[in-house]
Amino acid sequence: MKWLSDVSLTPHHTFGLPARAQAIVEAHCVQDLQEIWQASDYHNSPKLVVGEGSNLLFCQDFEGVVVLNRLKGITIDNHADHYLLHVGAGEPWHAFVAWSIDNAMPGLENLALIPGCVGAAPIQNIGAYGVEFAERCAYVDIYHPDTGNQRRLSCDECQFGYRDSIFKTPAMQGWVITQVGFRLDKAWKPVLKYGALAELDSQQATPKGIFDAVCAIRRAKLPDPSVCGNAGSFFKNPVLDSEQATKLKVSYPDVPLFSAPLGQKKVAAGWLIDQCGLKGKRQGGARVHPQQALVITNAENAISDDVIRLAKHVVSHVYTRFGVRLEHEVRLIDQQGETTLEAQ
Ligand SMILES: Cc1cc2nc3c(=O)[nH]c(=O)nc-3n(C[C@H](O)[C@H](O)[C@H](O)COP(=O)(O)OP(=O)(O)OC[C@H]3O[C@@H](n4cnc5c(N)ncnc54)[C@H](O)[C@@H]3O)c2cc1C
Repeated sequence: MKWLSDVSLTPHHTFGLPARAQAIVEAHCVQDLQEIWQASDYHNSPKLVVGEGSNLLFCQDFEGVVVLNRLKGITIDNHADHYLLHVGAGEPWHAFVAWSIDNAMPGLENLALIPGCVGAAPIQNIGAYGVEFAERCAYVDIYHPDTGNQRRLSCDECQFGYRDSIFKTPAMQGWVITQVGFRLDKAWKPVLKYGALAELDSQQATPKGIFDAVCAIRRAKLPDPSVCGNAGSFFKNPVLDSEQATKLKVSYPDVPLFSAPLGQKKVAAGWLIDQCGLKGKRQGGARVHPQQALVITNAENAISDDVIRLAKHVVSHVYTRFGVRLEHEVRLIDQQGETTLEAQ
């Protein structure tokens, strides 16, 4: 294994902000993970597992080891009515989705072009265009490098919710996702309920057609991180109880509300931010994207402090105007590990 010390993290996260790590190393197998955690030079240093860094904001230099998860491999079990795919956590997500479509195993086409690695998909239960990872999840394999324990969590045990799962809870601290199981039913049904996909003809729709449509929509709508640094949606869509949602609808009849479990409603955070006139708002080199209010970009040599100040400004304006508290979807990392916007 190749260890590098005092390394720039700029190329290892899609915001592309300046930050450094004490050390960085790639893990290609479970044995590598064990050796990294046992390395005497870094025994007491915090460890951060990273895929492509597409959901990360480094608030300060990280005083620990960044472990790039590069556990690869895909195997297929062909069952009568479904395929069961076993996929290494370090496989790039979009390439895996494209491979599944090319190999006539549809079901993930709505999730095309989401950046990141397969191993991060369960963590925030990635979702787009009417499909969530949870709907295709068979299991998640995890490994605890400190103890050597391994476990397989069923889909139910993962406790998936909207951009949420057990992997965001303290119970999963210290565990690394090593492999993900996907169940793709052979009786394929197109999911065309969301946005521009609703214009497609369900009789004519093919997995490849939907895959291409999703890629085209995303390329047209979202800033490409290789051109303009960002981490996708900075905030989650707030979930409101029915009383809060009704109050909001009475005051703002145009507010976009969507059904959520348990009779709750999700409100489009982008709409709230837009109503506050914050599209295009700048703070240093950071900017609220002029077309996508949910996305904060590294418009021009931003530093993490610019992004943090801008994000706080957005939260405070939306709260003052609507009484709705935005929560960040992006994971914030300080010197020792995970932190929150409020703590910055
Ligand atoms: C342009 C753009 C568009 C996006 N669109 C969407 C979208 O449509 N829907 C959506 O849900 N998300 C979206 N995202 C967010 C992001 O792509 C996903 O959250 C993705 O799953 C992150 O993968 P990653 O490998 O980059 O994770 P990272 O950013 O590297 O890590 C994210 C978190 O997971 C942890 N982690 C990563 N891998 C492991 C592992 N193997 N074991 C344990 N912990 C791990 C990290 O420590 C960190 O806390 C978008 C991001 C961008 C930049």
